[in-house]
Amino acid sequence: MKKMIIVGGGIQGCTLAIHLLKMKKLDNHELLIIDKNNKPLSNWKECTNLISMPFLRSPSVHHLDVNPFSLEKFSKKEGFHKVKHFYGYYDRPSLEMFNEHCEAVINDLDIVSCWKQASVTGIEKQQGYWTVETEEGEVIEAENLVLAMGLREHPYWPKWAEKASSENAHIHHVFQKEVPDLNACSIPISIIGGGISAAHLALSLSKKYPGQVSLIYRKDLEVHTFDSDPGWQGPMYMDKFKQIQDYSIRRKTIIEARHKGSVTKELYLGLKSAEKSGKIKLIKNEVQSYCTEEKKLVFQSGETYDAKTVLLATGFHSTPPGIQWLKSVIKHENLRCAKCGYPIVSPETLEWDQGLFVMGPLAELEIGPVSRNIAGARRATERILRAI
Ligand SMILES: Cc1cc2nc3c(=O)[nH]c(=O)nc-3n(C[C@H](O)[C@H](O)[C@H](O)COP(=O)(O)OP(=O)(O)OC[C@H]3O[C@@H](n4cnc5c(N)ncnc54)[C@H](O)[C@@H]3O)c2cc1C
Repeated sequence: MKKMIIVGGGIQGCTLAIHLLKMKKLDNHELLIIDKNNKPLSNWKECTNLISMPFLRSPSVHHLDVNPFSLEKFSKKEGFHKVKHFYGYYDRPSLEMFNEHCEAVINDLDIVSCWKQASVTGIEKQQGYWTVETEEGEVIEAENLVLAMGLREHPYWPKWAEKASSENAHIHHVFQKEVPDLNACSIPISIIGGGISAAHLALSLSKKYPGQVSLIYRKDLEVHTFDSDPGWQGPMYMDKFKQIQDYSIRRKTIIEARHKGSVTKELYLGLKSAEKSGKIKLIKNEVQSYCTEEKKLVFQSGETYDAKTVLLATGFHSTPPGIQWLKSVIKHENLRCAKCGYPIVSPETLEWDQGLFVMGPLAELEIGPVSRNIAGARRATERILRAI
């Protein structure tokens, strides 16, 4: 029997694994990471590569390793040029350097020896341990189980886009699995969304298809350095958040705190400059439907707009990850959930039931608005470690 199974080897699951191994809480043979992908951080790499994100949005102290200055030290050791690989006041790291750092830490700890590629389809509580069932019907036992699934399985498709997709229109969500080759898009291209993913993608595609890319967003582009105020990283806002007893109010607070669909200043300026030079069109309008025959978007105003390829950068929908296969254990073990469907867990250790822990989106009601981010992975790790 394993001491711990982590379901999900993305940013969240890998942060926990790295801390457990580095702090000698577990040996490699006692830990198993089960993930649908064959390698750690696959979703992270696919999503960020697809939109050609040059720098992270978060500061350089937010990474997967234990020492907060590990990335900075790594950059010096490996000779990454300070000006080229750190951006702005918060030293935001380049994606290239961040990924190489992840790779180095993961390799050093031989995380691959703890890896199992499989899709988890159910979990069950036994006498003092948990079992995890995979799609292939294999049953694996562990004393502790951590649920660290992300939202990648839940790309948000507006209704009009679902309809167009069912009519075989060239419409894709940028975070769906297997996005078609973006070097071979039919033009003109419309990107739907007003957040960093939409903006990065629009800028990168406008280099490949100058003058053929439009960014379509509902409300004025909002500029924010981070996706929530830095006060949510620590006691400034979190002390008050923790005192909220009503989980519906916690959920409301999280929604209000997140600058959903916002861009950083340099992205905003980049978009404006690309618009000025005619590489990109910035269009504030709301899409109502897509006419598949004519390959046109129809706006709420009734106007139509040529779009042979439509790319959705509309984020994720809010259903809890894994809920389909978690339903039966929630019912059977009477696991507490808030009205939004998310777990209510112990504040100290993020334990949902004895030996069952959550992190990432599933830990949002305890960790707050940063839960899905790298900072959230570090916070959740700290708490889970208290119990191990
Ligand atoms: C474009 C983009 C840029 C971002 N930039 C930043 C940033 O700069 N800073 C920051 O802090 N955050 C950022 N984020 C937010 C967040 O850090 C990332 O989304 C991160 O990848 C989330 O990690 P995760 O582990 O929750 O999810 P994932 O990376 O999706 O990992 C979850 C893993 O769980 C596995 N899994 C799911 N279900 C099952 C199952 N049933 N069985 C087996 N395995 C399963 C998946 O295969 C996956 O590998 C960004 C997000 C996006 C989309």
